[in-house]
Amino acid sequence: MEKEKNTKKENLEEENFWEESGFVEKIKPGEMEEKMKTFHKGHNEDMNFKCRKCGKKISAHNKDWHDGMCDNCFNKEHSKGV
Ligand SMILES: [Zn+2]
Repeated sequence: MEKEKNTKKENLEEENFWEESGFVEKIKPGEMEEKMKTFHKGHNEDMNFKCRKCGKKISAHNKDWHDGMCDNCFNKEHSKGV
């Protein structure tokens, strides 16, 4: 079970890394692995979702990593206080 400890440590370091970006704090530790699948997908892969702001088609990547918004809305939302 020592391997598990190593994995947990890596996860912690990863969380700290993401906290600095200011956005991914909502992601629960268990969701991280699931989301990493879409992280590596392109912005135009799996366009099966809709932007929650303007309704434009968005990719699975945007749903998970752009707060459920298209690039435009995400940039608007997050360009403010950053
Ligand atoms: Zn949008």
